[in-house]
Amino acid sequence: MTELDKKIEDAIWVARELFERGKATGSSANLSFLHDGAIYITGSGTCFGRLTKESFSKVSWDGEVLNGVKPSKELPLHKMYYEKSDSIQAVVHVHSFYATMYSFFKQDDVTDIVPEYTPYLKMKVGKVGLVPYEKPGSKELFECFEKAAPYSDAFILAQHGPVVGGKTMMDAFYGLEELEESCKIAWTLDQGKKEIIQL
Ligand code: ZN
Repeated sequence: MTELDKKIEDAIWVARELFERGKATGSSANLSFLHDGAIYITGSGTCFGRLTKESFSKVSWDGEVLNGVKPSKELPLHKMYYEKSDSIQAVVHVHSFYATMYSFFKQDDVTDIVPEYTPYLKMKVGKVGLVPYEKPGSKELFECFEKAAPYSDAFILAQHGPVVGGKTMMDAFYGLEELEESCKIAWTLDQGKKEIIQL
């Protein structure tokens, strides 16, 4: 098995696990990884429950599609995450319930929104930043993400969902799982204490 085959196998496994655990729904999630100078990202409209080798779009660093598969519209978010640090080699974005719910609380410090009620989030992921709401796939959302990117290690797009990167696809998956569980605990404990943002 080549290194690329292994990365694709891990990506398909992670996607299916997230789908089966109810953390990725419909065709709204996307993930990517780096290989040999290119970004491999799930194609537009693909479903995490049934990815195959052919579901991935291969895109050059300049945004040129190299294999005819249309990439997810969130590709610029993934690229900005990679530009943050060489240690980021895989990125996962889903619309999971608790991370999204937690984004409705008003925050004093938007660079570090999820409290350390349990120790693993800080150990596995680090600081989780809140990116203000803009329409999915929009230029405005990408601009907001670019501004937030330097200040945190993982992100929740407000009223939308988490984006988590890692050294490998498995690390990004572990980080996302930890973030979602931490948000479940924090959302439960913080109800009635934190103000909800005005919609
Ligand atoms: Zn999304």
